[in-house]
Amino acid sequence: MKLLVVENVTKKFGGLVALNGVSFEVDRGEFVAIVGPNGSGKTTLLNVINGVYKPDGGRVLFEGRDITNLPAYARAKLGMSRAFQVPRPFPELTVLENVIVGAVFNGGYDLHKAREVAREVVDYVGLGRRANELAGRLTFNELRLLELARALAGRPKLLMLDEVMAGLNPGEIDNMTKLIRKIVEEKGISALSLVEHRMKAVVQLAHRVVVMHQGRVIAEGPPNIALNNPVVVEIYLGK
Ligand code: ADP
Repeated sequence: MKLLVVENVTKKFGGLVALNGVSFEVDRGEFVAIVGPNGSGKTTLLNVINGVYKPDGGRVLFEGRDITNLPAYARAKLGMSRAFQVPRPFPELTVLENVIVGAVFNGGYDLHKAREVAREVVDYVGLGRRANELAGRLTFNELRLLELARALAGRPKLLMLDEVMAGLNPGEIDNMTKLIRKIVEEKGISALSLVEHRMKAVVQLAHRVVVMHQGRVIAEGPPNIALNNPVVVEIYLGK
C-alpha cells in the first residue's frame, strides 16, 4: 500500500484554479521532490496534503485511509509532520525544549520519553552543542535544523518540507540535502519536499520528481528523466 495517495485534487481561490486535477503518490521510504515555477501550486498542494486547506475536489489518502476531511492536528497524529520554510519556534525556550514540545504534542510521548527522543533528534540534526541555547539566539541555518528536529520528534512517517533550502548558503544546502537523504535512508521516513527549480543538486538526490505547472502535474519520474522531459525543458527555457 502506498503511504500517500493524492487523487485528482482541485483547489480554487475564487476564480483562480490553483490545483487542477493533481494526482501522485509517495511510497514508503521514498524522497519525492515537487518542483515547478513560482505560482505553479506547490505550496497549495502541501497545504491540501497536511490539512491547512480542504480541496474543492479529489481525495487525499494516507496509509489507505481517506484523510481529506481530517484537520491538520489529526493528520500530525497519524504521522504527517511538516517543516516550514520560515520556522516559528518559541524563542524563549531552548532548542531542546522546543523539540520536547514537538515530541509531546505531535509524537504523543510522555514527558520523560519526550526528553529522551528530543535529545536524540537534536543530536541527529547536528544541534547537539546548541541544545541549551535559547531558540531566539540561533542563526538562520540553525533555525532550519531546529525546525527539522521538531518535525522529526513528531514521529513522522511522512516528512513534508517547505522550501527548506531557501536562503541557505551552498555549504548549508549541501548539509541539509544530505541530512534529508540520511533521514529517509536510516529512519525509513518518506520525505515530500518542495524544491526551487534552480536547486538542481537537491533535485538530483530525490528518488522521484513531480513537476508542476499552472496547477497541474506535467511530468513525473526519476530526476534525470522528469527534468529532461521536452515539455519541462520548454517551460523553463521559455521563462
Ligand atoms: P507555488 O508554491 O508553486 O509558488 P502557490 O501554491 O503558492 O504556488 O500558488 C498557486 C496559485 O494560487 C498562485 O496563483 C497564487 O497566487 C494562488 N494562491 C495561493 N494561495 C492563495 C490564497 N490563500 N488566496 C488566493 N490565491 C492564492
